[in-house]
Amino acid sequence: MARYATLLLGLIWVGCASAAPVEINGVRLSAAPDKTRVVLDLSGPVSHKIFSLSGPDRVVIDVEAARIDRDKVAIPAVKGSVSRIRTGTKNNGDLRVVLDLTAAVRAKSFVARPGASAGHRLVIDLIHSDSGSAGSPAAPVKQVRTLQQTGRDLVIAVDAGHGGKDPGASGRHGTREKNVTLAIARKLKQQIDAQPGMRAVLVRDGDYFVNLYDRMERARQMQADLFVSIHADAAENRRVRGSSVYVLSKSGASSEAAKRLAQRENAADLVGGVSLSDKDDVLASVLLDLSQNAAISASTSVGEKVLAELGKVGRVHQSKLQSANFVVLRSPDIPSILVETAFISNSQEEKRLRDKNEQTRLASSILLGIKAYFNDNAPPGTLLAQSSGAPGADSVKHVISRGDTLSGIADRYNVSMRQLRQTNGLRNDRIRVGQVLTIPAS
Ligand SMILES: [Zn+2]
Repeated sequence: MARYATLLLGLIWVGCASAAPVEINGVRLSAAPDKTRVVLDLSGPVSHKIFSLSGPDRVVIDVEAARIDRDKVAIPAVKGSVSRIRTGTKNNGDLRVVLDLTAAVRAKSFVARPGASAGHRLVIDLIHSDSGSAGSPAAPVKQVRTLQQTGRDLVIAVDAGHGGKDPGASGRHGTREKNVTLAIARKLKQQIDAQPGMRAVLVRDGDYFVNLYDRMERARQMQADLFVSIHADAAENRRVRGSSVYVLSKSGASSEAAKRLAQRENAADLVGGVSLSDKDDVLASVLLDLSQNAAISASTSVGEKVLAELGKVGRVHQSKLQSANFVVLRSPDIPSILVETAFISNSQEEKRLRDKNEQTRLASSILLGIKAYFNDNAPPGTLLAQSSGAPGADSVKHVISRGDTLSGIADRYNVSMRQLRQTNGLRNDRIRVGQVLTIPAS
């Protein structure tokens, strides 16, 4: 679905039209492990089209009524996945920019409005297809994924709200939302990773700023099955407390308080100094309706389960699932929920949010809710779908890859060597590449 959405983005004209030709004043190129970014500095706003071609791989950007003075503007040298940048003017006066690539990428683009440090820009991100462990080194246990199991892991994107220059809400005793959300997110990741067939990816794993759009994009890059954003609430009235769970609403907020909360959480991007409204408009008009209804209905089910679990360990602020227009929940293709774990503005809850055991308990509740949902709704192709549902598919198979050992496999699936040998009629510990082992239920 993400691919489809990207394709659609490429087929429409993005941005607003302008009369006089726009000058490309600069071309910048930067590379990160997970993506290569091309920035075109512009003299004004532009409309553009972007599409990908293969054989050889390249990305083409047509910028409406624009031109570049090649005598003045230097084209940067090769970097990341870009092997060459070419430009040319089409008959209709549009500027065509061709990015020759070293490998296939997923391209996305957006127009950035002038900010403090830069003017109008057209930004093209080339997402590397093998960026599975982008950002942080993969935990060793997750090499499970590269082995040929018969089902894939369920991937949960865990998003610690705020971070860096955006501290979020603060408690009376100086607790900052950005720190407790990260602590809870890390605990949730640990717990998820300990579940067979489940894997978590932290959207943010440190005290740094990530804008709301990039949070969603990271989840999409990881092909997440669910996006969970962790927050802590705040209210003027210091007695207010309890957990709430939110899902996206396209039409309106479920209450005035929900609306205000969404405004506050969405303001995170203003802290970053870049308005994302251009992209958001595109998202709103083109992408949302495609598949978001399905995503919202899935989000609603997960949200209700998580809220029910939170209610078992603590007080619930709103007993019903809440909805509002949170930017971070706008992925059209990934069910997304936002958990306001507790009120940081309430002294007791502030204390609770700082307490490691309470953080663990909150994470466990969220996990239980997630599991309750996916037990009934395991995506096809996941290990969970095979072990929980389909008749005749209740045993897990493991195809031996190079480097596998029987004891390693036993460890990985948490079964004994004896069970493994017995189930598969092995007389010794010798295994060969390509051999299929049935993993007994542990
Ligand atoms: Zn927040």
